[in-house]
Amino acid sequence: MTMHKNFIAGEWTGADAIENRNPSDTNDVVGLYARGTPEDMKAAIAAAKAAFPAWSRSGILERHAILRKASDEIMARKDELAALLAREEGKVLPEALGETVRAGQIFDFFAGECLRLAGEVLPSARPNIGVEITREPIGPVGLITPWNFPIAIPAWKIAPALCYGNTVVFKPAELVPGCAWAIVDILDRAGLPKGVINLVMGKGSVIGQAMLDSPDLAGISFTGSVGTGKRIAVASVEHGRKYQLEMGGKNPFVVLDDADLDVAVNAAVNSSFFSTGQRCTASSRLIVTEGIHDRFVSAVTERLHALKVDNALKTGTDIGPVVDERQLAQDMDYIEIGRKEGANLAFGGERLNRETPGFYLQPALFTEVDNQMRIAREEIFGPVATVIRVKDYEEALSVANDTPFGLSSGIATTSLKQATHFRRNAEAGMVMVNLPTAGVDFHVPFGGRKASSFGSREQGRYAAEFFTVVKTQYTLA
Ligand code: NAD
Repeated sequence: MTMHKNFIAGEWTGADAIENRNPSDTNDVVGLYARGTPEDMKAAIAAAKAAFPAWSRSGILERHAILRKASDEIMARKDELAALLAREEGKVLPEALGETVRAGQIFDFFAGECLRLAGEVLPSARPNIGVEITREPIGPVGLITPWNFPIAIPAWKIAPALCYGNTVVFKPAELVPGCAWAIVDILDRAGLPKGVINLVMGKGSVIGQAMLDSPDLAGISFTGSVGTGKRIAVASVEHGRKYQLEMGGKNPFVVLDDADLDVAVNAAVNSSFFSTGQRCTASSRLIVTEGIHDRFVSAVTERLHALKVDNALKTGTDIGPVVDERQLAQDMDYIEIGRKEGANLAFGGERLNRETPGFYLQPALFTEVDNQMRIAREEIFGPVATVIRVKDYEEALSVANDTPFGLSSGIATTSLKQATHFRRNAEAGMVMVNLPTAGVDFHVPFGGRKASSFGSREQGRYAAEFFTVVKTQYTLA
């Protein structure tokens, strides 16, 4: 089996390998991927530092051409890359394809942004002086990504980092090195100079920590859990570098009595259970007013009966496996916690056996949930949703906002007045009306509030806030 190595200073290196296994079929080894060491991380950071001066001054056409080529290759190989994604992460093929196309679109978007870099020219407050405001790249940056979007999240950090002239050390999640390796290989062949992108795969607690401990990075952009995010914050303050954190969610989806039931059920089922509920924007709290509660619960349960949980690569599968044994154990623990807390397990929650050995879990729906229960407060990150019954819109809004998180928030209603009020008052970075809380565009800002995010927004033009620093220049005429 081919060994996929780390990429440091333009060379593929590393000997020690980790097996990447398919969660839909644990007998299937997707590939062998390097297990990086702290020394590899140091070498990668040194390479990114050395490559920065030249890349930061590279022409916009060179950057445009490389990002454009990367986008073209991702699009041309979308089926193959989607199959790799589905195989290593367990996302069903249509979702994996959607995510792969998204990665291609992101590279395309930032290829365009290279040609639109701009500043401002202003008159000074003093006579005969001109003021120019420009943006410059921040330096070598560390990018740390989670396992649940193996190609899109790396793309939405790497593409803007390179577009604005930064050099990169990329540390993907250890469960999904395949897509990460493929992106770096594509960028290398697209013509990136040596050292501009470096890939170090392996354990977060070892090589991720070595990245945090380095004084030589100008910034770290991270997506993952709140616990790791806090470590990144502390270490970054220590080293005086910029940091950007995208973390967990406990996203509310409010369903009002006047909602279109089909719209509400489709949005709730999609955002609670698709991608096996392993999305930071998943709706895990369905907050439903009394008048529609019973009809909503029975329609959602009916839909859950019809969903096929099986091998992610099989045609017709709606929900793939949980990503690994550890995450499955965490999901099952929370199902037990919910039962003990007195919630009613209205559907699912059992481990399933399929033709191939994998981490299959029947999606679980809890009703009679109180918002103070642990299953309503803590991120489970699996196919487990809770239904919270409320009296009216006012109570729904108050319960929706009563959470430590603030990533995405949704409402199903036919009332313009209540939809507008909710959009203005939801304490979240993103608000959806009659749409799932998960599912976002690639060219507009993404991010949350409270414990969900820290720092400036990702994606679209807003990505420049993190990956550039502003310079104000005064010149005597
Ligand atoms: P995680 O925090 O365990 O790991 C994320 C990354 O951090 C991985 O690459 C991991 O190797 C690395 N890491 C772990 N320990 C480290 C350390 N000590 N130093 C440096 N790096 C370290 O998270 P996960 O389990 O991979 O992902 C799931 C989490 O990600 C969930 O909480 C989910 O909500 C969140 N997430 C958030 C968003 C968002 O945009 N808000 C998107 C996707 C996932």
